[in-house]
Amino acid sequence: MEFIDLKAQYQALKKDIDEGITDVLNCGNYILGEPVKNLEKELAEYVGVKYCATCANGTDALQIALMVFDIQKGDAVFVPAFTFYSTAEVVSLVGATPIFVDVDERTFNLDIKKLEKAIEQVIQEGKLKPKAIIPVDLFGQPANFDEIAKIAQKYNLKVIEDGAQGFGGEIRKKKACSFGDISTTSFFPAKPLGCYGDGGAIFTDDEKLYELILSIRVHGKGEFKYDNVRLGLNSRLDTLQAAILLPKLKAFQEYELEKRNQFANVYTEKLKDYVKTPIMPEGFLSSWAQYTILLESQEQRDFLQVKLREADIPSMIYYPKPLHKQVVYKDYNFNLEDLKVSENLSQKVLSLPMHPYLTEELVKHICDKVIQMIGEFKNGK
Ligand SMILES: *Cc1c(COP(=O)(O)O)cnc(C)c1O
Repeated sequence: MEFIDLKAQYQALKKDIDEGITDVLNCGNYILGEPVKNLEKELAEYVGVKYCATCANGTDALQIALMVFDIQKGDAVFVPAFTFYSTAEVVSLVGATPIFVDVDERTFNLDIKKLEKAIEQVIQEGKLKPKAIIPVDLFGQPANFDEIAKIAQKYNLKVIEDGAQGFGGEIRKKKACSFGDISTTSFFPAKPLGCYGDGGAIFTDDEKLYELILSIRVHGKGEFKYDNVRLGLNSRLDTLQAAILLPKLKAFQEYELEKRNQFANVYTEKLKDYVKTPIMPEGFLSSWAQYTILLESQEQRDFLQVKLREADIPSMIYYPKPLHKQVVYKDYNFNLEDLKVSENLSQKVLSLPMHPYLTEELVKHICDKVIQMIGEFKNGK
């Protein structure tokens, strides 16, 4: 069994993907070619924003957003402590300071009360200037953007939505990657919408920000390619990746997102009496980048993972270390008492196979095994 079955997806979309690749090879425009422009237009339409610029990966997308807002040394950027490393890494890369904020145990996303507390504390200490929040749509579920928007307004902070896992999610029919002043996503193969290499995209409704994004994406270009007016990156999307993403975006809209939700519902129905399953607030839709359960202890989690592997069921731990425990942040000492949920989650979470090419039978089989093994663990104790 595959954790994410990209080969099954390729078989389903082979004809269109192969044709797209061949067209690019024949036309010879390998970087930011016509399919890239078509893709950007379709992505912006799907998400419901005015502008989309693709780029080389989801990490660059976040860094470009920080550069657009001129975030730098002396600035504080609030990020969840429980996320992929990139979310904080880019903050440090531009010289600013990430402030880690704990997450909610059942949505895995930013804890709003603790966010406001952290902002107040940074203001009180007076060493750093609060500039931005980077909420993450972890495992596909949009962060609590209603509340985040209020806090951002109150403290005059920019919101950069890290939608690397969130593409396709919704809050009351409004799509993920539309909730930030700038929002970003990733097309890394394992993401809900993935290409066959690295890729990313940046979304905004603001024309001025969009123009800055286009400039920073290509070496800070000005009027033309060799007029370089600011520092930028080299962060363009390959035309081949756009040709691969176009048919994938179509399948994503036609049935893949629906399938992910169908299988997530089966997981939740079958498992909710045995383990803590994800909680979806009213009006929220997840893209189910991961289906993640919460076990009672690290011992139980690790037992389950080993037993599942023996039954040929792959599972993953996202994430085994919260960000403040990463070696780069070893001297981090801000508000550590308040990061306990993130620490706890890293010891007890387990992600189960999730992709649109599963079947209900397979998901039920996985659930039966999980239930059986949890019983074994309890009896063995
Ligand atoms: C994958 C991911 C990124 C980075 O995307 P890449 O395309 O791998 O650079 C950033 N943030 C989160 C939450 C991610 O899951």
